[in-house]
Amino acid sequence: MTRFGFILAAGMCLLPLGAGARGYIERMLHHPVPGGVAVVGLGIAEAPPKAYFKGNDVMVLREGAGHWIAVVGLDLKTPKGAQRLVVEDGRGRREIPFQVGAKAYASQHIKLKNQSHVTPDPEQTRRFEREHKEQMAAYANFRNTGPSNVILDKPVDGRLSSPFGLRRFFNGEERNAHSGLDFAVPAGTPVRAPADGVVTIVADYFFNGKTVFLDHGQGFITMYCHLSEFQVTRGQAIKRGQIIGNVGATGRATGPHLHWNVSLNNARVDPAIFINAFKP
Ligand SMILES: [Zn+2]
Repeated sequence: MTRFGFILAAGMCLLPLGAGARGYIERMLHHPVPGGVAVVGLGIAEAPPKAYFKGNDVMVLREGAGHWIAVVGLDLKTPKGAQRLVVEDGRGRREIPFQVGAKAYASQHIKLKNQSHVTPDPEQTRRFEREHKEQMAAYANFRNTGPSNVILDKPVDGRLSSPFGLRRFFNGEERNAHSGLDFAVPAGTPVRAPADGVVTIVADYFFNGKTVFLDHGQGFITMYCHLSEFQVTRGQAIKRGQIIGNVGATGRATGPHLHWNVSLNNARVDPAIFINAFKP
């Protein structure tokens, strides 16, 4: 491409911006990569359209007068290339294509003294499978309400340590990639809800330790792990900023830290996106 052609192409990319089509939520959250978020415009309608991705309900928000957007979570296994969002509104059912780009994630090697946290025995495996099922059900929940906000407050004020998506090797054996974001903060630090929600899980898990799930509505779910204390009970309605627990090192943790997951339409996505700390 000639120099002139490049300039022309770059100028053309700016046209939608000039038209004022990109709203605040899209500018903040639209990072369409594996482990990221795609914000897809659904057009203008009076009633909110329904949107589905890979069979899961998708969050739909109003942005601007009568303009609707879908906020789609893309899990780490989402391949690069074209994806389709299914939309149902007054005009019927249609598919909206959108593009997913690539993202490379780093590897991390972790030494654990407790070998059962690398290879659990059969009884521990049964326990883990039971706990896993319970957590998967909480992630799949979709309430037709909320959320109070999609741009989130940090649940603790601290340094970000392990990023989302790291490929992890425990004592040399590869396990699941890092499904959340870690904050390096001292034990006892209060953890605050980043948005209004309902507490759907309060449990002490084999890997995740003392864990709280918050359901913010429309499939927007957050999880807090390795806590030392709980400050909420299951079923409780909580407000943005409310203390839900304290940082600890329970479960599979090498030291005190907060592990934080964010999920949309049952896809675990990079929490850094929601606190304006995403690194491409
Ligand atoms: Zn973690």
